[in-house]
Amino acid sequence: MLVNMIDILNQASDNKYAIAQFNINNLEWTRFILEEVNILGVPAILGVSESAIEYMGGYETVANMVRNLIKYLNVRVPISIHLDHGSSFDSCKSAIDAGFTSVMIDYSRYDLETNISETKRVVEYAKEKNISVEAELGPINTNESVDISYVNIDDCIRFCAETNIDFFAPAVGSVHGPYIGEPKLKFELIKEINEKCRIPLVLHGGSGIPDELIKKSIDCGISKININTELQQVWAQGVRENLNINNDVYDPRKIIKFGEQNIKNMIAKKIELFNNKV
Ligand code: 13P
Repeated sequence: MLVNMIDILNQASDNKYAIAQFNINNLEWTRFILEEVNILGVPAILGVSESAIEYMGGYETVANMVRNLIKYLNVRVPISIHLDHGSSFDSCKSAIDAGFTSVMIDYSRYDLETNISETKRVVEYAKEKNISVEAELGPINTNESVDISYVNIDDCIRFCAETNIDFFAPAVGSVHGPYIGEPKLKFELIKEINEKCRIPLVLHGGSGIPDELIKKSIDCGISKININTELQQVWAQGVRENLNINNDVYDPRKIIKFGEQNIKNMIAKKIELFNNKV
């Protein structure tokens, strides 16, 4: 069942657990994720970056692939197709028009005024079509960055109030990609944003954060956690190991499947953690 994420994230936020966003790269990954969350019986967000959309052949290809797989696999849990880090109004519009059920507009690289005005444009368009909107204030750095940026609380309050977004990704110390050393998450800041903005909060760069810190961030108000790098790492490990011991395999379908179980195990582990069951 394809849904926007508004009710599901509000529920997670009220009850102190988190919904997972797993990023997809191709048909096989989409299938592995859908099969596993369906077995686990939990809602999930399929995050799709603009580069992944380009790789898979455009917004409509992705939206139709997900919709048809949900039908073909008889997936019963709520699923959202979510544009990850949409870089412009046009990108968000293309996603919405193609059938995505949720979008992220990321104008965090611009000043606050521009971020607010472009985010508002996307919210206006999305609301008409019942699509959920996430936006970022930060920016949330990549691992190459020397300095980690953190949001200012007054900017957060103003941003959420003026844009009317459905969930909010503030820079609180996480980074995309592998961490160099311990993540420097500011839990007091997450708590304060949660108390003052009253909106589900998103943690980007969820890969590689130790379990205890994930639990603490959920306790402080995080209700959506994005995982991309860790799925890629365990998938690559599975493929590498199996190719090394199976020299005669050349069928691409078999090669991609070498990483299937690792992806499914990682999803199960994250879902347990995000639901406070470990
Ligand atoms: P990681 O690749 O660090 O898991 O981050 C994913 C993410 O935040 C996607 O927006």
